[in-house]
Amino acid sequence: MHSNDNDYDVLIAGGGPVGLTLACELRMYGVSTLVVERLAPGANEPRTLTIHARTLEIMDRRDLLTDFVAAEKLTAGLDEYRERLENTSARGHFAGMFILGRGTVATEQHRELLLPRETIESVLTRRATGTGAVVRHGVEVVGLVQNADGVAVTVEDAQGSSTVIRAGYVVGCDGGRSTVRRHAGIDFPGTEPQLVSRMGLGSLAGPDHLPMGWQRNDHGWFMRMPDGRIFTAEWDHLAPQTPVTAEELCASIHRVTGERVQFADVRFVSRFTDSTRLASQYRTGRVLLAGDAAHVHFPAGGQGANLGFQDAVNLGWKLAAACQGRPGLLDTYEAERRPVAERVLLNTRAQAALMRPGPQVDALRALFAELMDFDVVNDHLTGAIYGTDVHYGGSDDPRVGRFVADRPLKTDSGPTRLAELLREGRPLLLDLTGTSTAARIAHPWTDRVRTVAVLDTDAEAAALLIRPDGYLAWAADAPVRTPAHAEDLRTALTSWFGDPISV
Ligand SMILES: Cc1cc2nc3c(=O)[nH]c(=O)nc-3n(C[C@H](O)[C@H](O)[C@H](O)COP(=O)(O)OP(=O)(O)OC[C@H]3O[C@@H](n4cnc5c(N)ncnc54)[C@H](O)[C@@H]3O)c2cc1C
Repeated sequence: MHSNDNDYDVLIAGGGPVGLTLACELRMYGVSTLVVERLAPGANEPRTLTIHARTLEIMDRRDLLTDFVAAEKLTAGLDEYRERLENTSARGHFAGMFILGRGTVATEQHRELLLPRETIESVLTRRATGTGAVVRHGVEVVGLVQNADGVAVTVEDAQGSSTVIRAGYVVGCDGGRSTVRRHAGIDFPGTEPQLVSRMGLGSLAGPDHLPMGWQRNDHGWFMRMPDGRIFTAEWDHLAPQTPVTAEELCASIHRVTGERVQFADVRFVSRFTDSTRLASQYRTGRVLLAGDAAHVHFPAGGQGANLGFQDAVNLGWKLAAACQGRPGLLDTYEAERRPVAERVLLNTRAQAALMRPGPQVDALRALFAELMDFDVVNDHLTGAIYGTDVHYGGSDDPRVGRFVADRPLKTDSGPTRLAELLREGRPLLLDLTGTSTAARIAHPWTDRVRTVAVLDTDAEAAALLIRPDGYLAWAADAPVRTPAHAEDLRTALTSWFGDPISV
């Protein structure tokens, strides 16, 4: 692995939540990593992001969960909202119907987190730079050319002076209007906006009667959050081409709620739509896409960053293997992550349709709410929003490709948890028979795979091979004793983690 000021294994365009997560992942494997971010730290749009169950489970497997939970406690303005969430039986909404999580879906974390994007970025930047990634702010990717050996990336600083940086691979984590995607020649087909949403952050002047929470009526919908954010959504009003203003938001609030309001101060206003797009491919040669650069959709249910975090965690160890000369896993990145994005695009389009004004949609919502009283329906939608329904498949064994739940484990070196054993980002072979049979077979992979014999043996399987992202690669129901069984394990180890070394 090499690096000097202008030569890296991986250049990541974009230091948003996804680019920074990927940098943290790559550094676990010693990959020299440069993140190029065009804005100053904290200068991005101030969104408060809902972080759902699967992301939290993964953060626990990276020892970042404690930092995120601590950061949420320090976030001003969310106490009332948090309290309301804790006092309701619902854990999340679908199209503004706050009835998710009432079925049987079990998650390791009891509720979602609400974190300002700036906080997420600062926690991730600390981890990324603390483990050796270089993060350059105020620098923009403006072009790239790739050949068989690498990619030459042109970057420009705020003064307009440009430099060429060489990288083995480039990942575009540069958002919905991705420059990397455009220069890589990757199409971004999808559907045009049907609705316009406006968002403002600030305090209102004078007495106001705008309620907290989410409301839908004949003119659109309106939402007010305790941290000062106000949203509207309207159909059949095309977004103007001019920059959004506080006056435009106030006019929209008036159309939707009938209330005339003025802001005393405005920290931020923005406009967004339900434009829904998916990259035609996630990779061309040495250039890959992750996060919003690969998919955009209406932010209903707060799923975009969650989807992107998990792109990054799926890609990190595969890209690290490619940097070490094993590019074969890279194709599985798109094969696994694209269907997950397609499902999110499906549910966000459906949610936008269910939020439209009108008596027919009223009826549809009422019926939908009735259906969501059935556990099986509620579980289905809850799993989709929480990201816990992901199944990468790829085997006749239905367990393979599913996320492995955390559990306490008794090992030779004392009690631990599965989530803690994955914190180095190494694949994990758990021998649950209390013996070392599986570990012996995996010995020629010990430089890459961590093997642990578990002493309490009432587990549902005899051995589990878990990928660095926490998903199951292989399982055995009986101790790995027969030659066929052993060969099965060797095949799984080789296909995911490379050839054995001679020992
Ligand atoms: C109102 C709203 C609310 C949302 N709420 C939620 C939520 O609750 N939960 C959730 O999961 N998602 C939510 N989302 C979606 C979420 O914000 C995005 O999915 C997420 O930010 C995507 O992260 P990213 O890192 O892929 O891209 P971005 O956050 O867009 O970051 C891309 C970064 O790349 C930088 N960049 C762009 N071009 C270049 C370039 N050429 N060179 C260098 N740097 C560049 C940008 O400055 C930016 O920092 C919401 C979206 C909106 C609009």
